[in-house]
Amino acid sequence: MSDLAYLHGDLRRGVRQLCTDFPDEYWRRMDKEEAYPTKFVTAMTQAGYLAALIPEEYGGVGTGVTEASIILEEVHRSGGNAAACHAQMYIMGTLLRHGSPEQKAFYLPRIASGELRLQAFGVTEPDAGTDTTSIRTTATREGDTYVVRGQKIWTSRALYSDLMLLLARTTPKDQVKKKTEGLSVFLIDLKSAVGKGVTIEPIETMLNHQTTQVFFDDLRIPVDSLIGEEGNGFRYILDGMNAERILMAAECIGDGYWFTERATNYANEREVFGRPIGQNQGIQFPIAQAYIHIRAADLMRNEAARLFDAGEDCGAEANMAKLLAADASWEAANTTIQTYGGFGFAREYDVERKFRETRLYQVAPVSTNMVLSYIAQHILGLPRSF
Ligand SMILES: Cc1cc2nc3c(=O)[nH]c(=O)nc-3n(C[C@H](O)[C@H](O)[C@H](O)COP(=O)(O)OP(=O)(O)OC[C@H]3O[C@@H](n4cnc5c(N)ncnc54)[C@H](O)[C@@H]3O)c2cc1C
Repeated sequence: MSDLAYLHGDLRRGVRQLCTDFPDEYWRRMDKEEAYPTKFVTAMTQAGYLAALIPEEYGGVGTGVTEASIILEEVHRSGGNAAACHAQMYIMGTLLRHGSPEQKAFYLPRIASGELRLQAFGVTEPDAGTDTTSIRTTATREGDTYVVRGQKIWTSRALYSDLMLLLARTTPKDQVKKKTEGLSVFLIDLKSAVGKGVTIEPIETMLNHQTTQVFFDDLRIPVDSLIGEEGNGFRYILDGMNAERILMAAECIGDGYWFTERATNYANEREVFGRPIGQNQGIQFPIAQAYIHIRAADLMRNEAARLFDAGEDCGAEANMAKLLAADASWEAANTTIQTYGGFGFAREYDVERKFRETRLYQVAPVSTNMVLSYIAQHILGLPRSF
């Protein structure tokens, strides 16, 4: 076994051990009560897992995306859901790569220790989801402040985060050469902004995700909230997206392994017509097929993470890993609910909960169509379609 495989084995065992404190009943209760899994997030923070990607000089662990992806995969493989805290891993990359030395020195150690939670990422708007450059939220410079006006939607965890990374227009779209110009990224002290220009409203959804709408009504933020240079925010956000895609692929892979394991166990135990249902190839083959697809997606995830950690271009691999893994976990979810028959719909088996949770990855954080469009245009050289 290589040193890396040994370390990864240790890492996997550590996360698995932590997750034993958060069994199916815990996640079922969180889901039923639509509650934020504070105890789980605290345990992940205290174990240092959420600071995996923060360099050691800032109090983090300083691992690569490969290790971060293993952490998230294991949470999902245990039946849990890392959505309550995963964003901390990839959002802080924008601050790390583009923040000023002062911003990094102030925020990163506090994020690593858990004193400050950076869990909210405000990009999507009611009229600009896929079409990010059409966002209408503006940040206008007035003296030593920016004034923020507009609305974000689907800002997950905003009620449970101290900080928010916000994408806003600083130059109107019709005044820039390229539509990707004139967008800027800000790090907002969300807790102190609530009631002083920020209102947060929860959105009820089919899964327990603590997602919200955030309204900005003349919120004044200091100029040093700006990350990097004004107008370059779109590029900064894009930089973090490959990491995000790899990490989300890992969650899907964890879900996929969870589903196939549950389906296999159930198919071995459940007897119909006097024999285990798993003896029927009509039940076996879909489980085997889903497992094969998960393993294949896993390989692509590893390759994308390896390239990312080596500092090489991984846009194609990160996108392909995300699509393959999201498709594989959804296939595994469908297969598992079919294997369980009626019991797949009963809350106490957790299959319907994971089924709802893993469906999200077809849409967010990037929809399948957008991945296909990226590969078609940027890798295959087909004409741009929008
Ligand atoms: C639970 C949840 C949590 C989320 N959390 C966050 C968050 O924390 N922060 C954040 O900023 N956003 C978040 N999002 C938003 C998510 O990233 C968007 O929903 C997603 O980007 C799609 O945008 P939209 O919903 O506006 O879809 P639309 O842009 O309206 O698109 C609708 C459908 O049409 C397809 N489509 C659009 N244009 C084309 C085209 N040219 N070719 C082919 N297909 C096309 C899309 O792929 C999609 O399937 C979250 C969403 C959900 C549901």
